[in-house]
Amino acid sequence: MDGLRPERALTVSQWADEHRRLSSKASAEPGPWRTGRTPYLKEPMDELSTTSNVQRVVMMFAAQTGKTESGSNWLGYVIAHAPGPMLLVQPTVEMAKRLSKQRLESLISETPCLAERIAPARARDSGNTMFAKEFPGGMMLLTGANSATGLRSTPCRYIFMDEVDAFPADVDGEGDPVSLAEKRATTFARRKILLTSTPTVKDFSRIEAEYQRSDQRRFYVPCPSCGEMQWLKWPQLKWEGNDPATAVYECEHCGERFAEIHKPAMLRQGEWRATAPSDGKTAGFQLSGLYSPLGWLSWADMVDDFLRAKADAPMLKSFVNTRLAETWEEDYASKVSADGLMAKRLAYESGTCPDGVVLLTAGVDVQDNRLAVSVWGWGDRQVGWLVWHQELMGDPTQVEVWGQLDQVLATGWATECGKELKITQMCVDSGGHCTHETYAYVRDRVRQGVVAIKGSSKRGSAAVGKGSKVDVNWRGRVIKRGVTLYMLGTDTIKTTLFGRMRHDDGLRFGMAADDEYFKQLTSEKQALRYVKGFPVREWVKKSSERNEALDCCVYAYAAMLIYGRRMNRATMWQQLRDRLESGKQTPLRSRKQPASGAASGFVSNW
Ligand SMILES: [Zn+2]
Repeated sequence: MDGLRPERALTVSQWADEHRRLSSKASAEPGPWRTGRTPYLKEPMDELSTTSNVQRVVMMFAAQTGKTESGSNWLGYVIAHAPGPMLLVQPTVEMAKRLSKQRLESLISETPCLAERIAPARARDSGNTMFAKEFPGGMMLLTGANSATGLRSTPCRYIFMDEVDAFPADVDGEGDPVSLAEKRATTFARRKILLTSTPTVKDFSRIEAEYQRSDQRRFYVPCPSCGEMQWLKWPQLKWEGNDPATAVYECEHCGERFAEIHKPAMLRQGEWRATAPSDGKTAGFQLSGLYSPLGWLSWADMVDDFLRAKADAPMLKSFVNTRLAETWEEDYASKVSADGLMAKRLAYESGTCPDGVVLLTAGVDVQDNRLAVSVWGWGDRQVGWLVWHQELMGDPTQVEVWGQLDQVLATGWATECGKELKITQMCVDSGGHCTHETYAYVRDRVRQGVVAIKGSSKRGSAAVGKGSKVDVNWRGRVIKRGVTLYMLGTDTIKTTLFGRMRHDDGLRFGMAADDEYFKQLTSEKQALRYVKGFPVREWVKKSSERNEALDCCVYAYAAMLIYGRRMNRATMWQQLRDRLESGKQTPLRSRKQPASGAASGFVSNW
């Protein structure tokens, strides 16, 4: 049989130059394929050939560089020249369907040597369906990375995973779709795996991770002036004012600037060079839109795109990903520095509520030898002011330090308008070593708005979970007026708070905050952890730094959210403002002694 003849030493680029035709429907340049038009595609394609020992080919390419067509050439090569079972994975089953109907149908029908190997889809029992194409000696299966079933089944010698950055992190609870698909090729000694994509967010991009595990090839081209080889970088592109038409490239060696007209000659003389050690099995290629052939995407187009995008983060991200083929760095916490916050500190005194504060909450972090307490004021649109922050020294297994906390709870805090506010909701951390003592304290102060909280390590948790009653009586029944414990999605809250600090959006600090406070507040950064092989961001403490100020802030913010649950969200801030202005005191009784049941009416007053 034709399909079973021994494989001749032919590369994908040779096959494409001989047989591939571009249709007028799918291509801007219909006619015979010419690898010379995009010389940088030759090597990636040839590493996919049976003549190469490479098993994994990684292409992190910009849009409009021909990445898609090189994949199609490989498909044609497999069908016509090196048949075997092949799996094509698109991000979703729906996209696989579209690929089958559009790209694949035209690839087959426009290329005679493929058309004669695959029966038309219309014929009955043709072996040609939407998701399976039979050909002599092999079969091509199509599926989506969102279908575990599609990724499992039969062994495949060839696997083509397209746009892997759009793959889900986890498919049907069975883990990473890339690993799942790749398992199917393990039995083939001469397997080939192609992964392609434009990248997405730094540290979250699959294609970047794959590229970093490869030998990291860059396409080096000679400078038209000095001849020095270099790979093209975006910062070297220069233009005048806001005029994209003036775009020229500045050689990083001789400083000479040259126009795009030199590009075809440069591409012809270009070569891929590895920039990292090779394992001999993985070849990685990165290519920006700067290499796009004349007539496709020009340097002027790229400057134009950049000028439109530069002021808008999502547009700029898209530019960086699809034009530069680089990952986008989201610098969440990195822009929130202790020094930066210190510099923006406002002049209000510690212990006073600036204009705008209409609600006070507190967050308490329980440590082995002290309680750290922050009092936060809140106003319209959840703007927050740090009112007070202190450490109450003392062993939390003893009553003394809790007595100090009672004084905080009993304090009336002066507002700018000459009124007084009291803490209406306090969150005390029960997740530390002193859970029992914390519950004991909270139990007697439920009516004063004191609740127990515990941070949840579960990713993506709601900021504040549903409260649950944790006290039971001797019969094992829940005590109605016992301690309520709220689980906090601390990662979620920290992301919110840091987002607001970074954008200078509604968290204000006065003289209550000093150097040490800001150091603690910024003591955590987002780090990566791998869950089922996929990276997730989570907040971790920077080495050996204390973070109570941050924890207290998280708890006080949660207290504000918990308090808000009792109120109509739309009118909450207006109601609180009216109440403050009408001179009505907060319903908390001023007490120096720990409260018992005497504080009845606290909730009903509200
Ligand atoms: Zn030069």
